[in-house]
Amino acid sequence: MLGKLAKWLRVLGQDVIYGQHLTGYGLIRAARAEGRLILTRDRRLKQKQPPPFILIESDHYRDQLRQVIENCQIRVGSAIFSRCLVCNARLQDRAKKAVEKLVPPYVFATQEKFSWCPGCRKVYWPATHHASMLEELRKMGVQ
Ligand SMILES: [Zn+2]
Repeated sequence: MLGKLAKWLRVLGQDVIYGQHLTGYGLIRAARAEGRLILTRDRRLKQKQPPPFILIESDHYRDQLRQVIENCQIRVGSAIFSRCLVCNARLQDRAKKAVEKLVPPYVFATQEKFSWCPGCRKVYWPATHHASMLEELRKMGVQ
């Protein structure tokens, strides 16, 4: 239910673990083991004596993101686009010629800067999706 929030927090460079399996006591155990802050919509979680958590109030990811940015005092922009949106690993810069076989020919011909994910091997480049994400953040009033 917080998948969109998780994705946007990763866009901002935040270290976020997300998955359907993370509920109830499993969630609490995982958060304790890794020293993580829990973001949840589950009002009953506090009865289970969890580690620190934020109860997400809104159903809408834009409001959710605003809430987390405010509560955690995240500096938007300092680590933006530094994390894989799929698997959360920190992206690494990659030389252009090293990604030639991994990206579409048009992208290779028109882009100069690439990064890639050492976890899932997805290649990233700052094309239009960066611009549209920045626009989306502006609309949310957080950029
Ligand atoms: Zn990845």
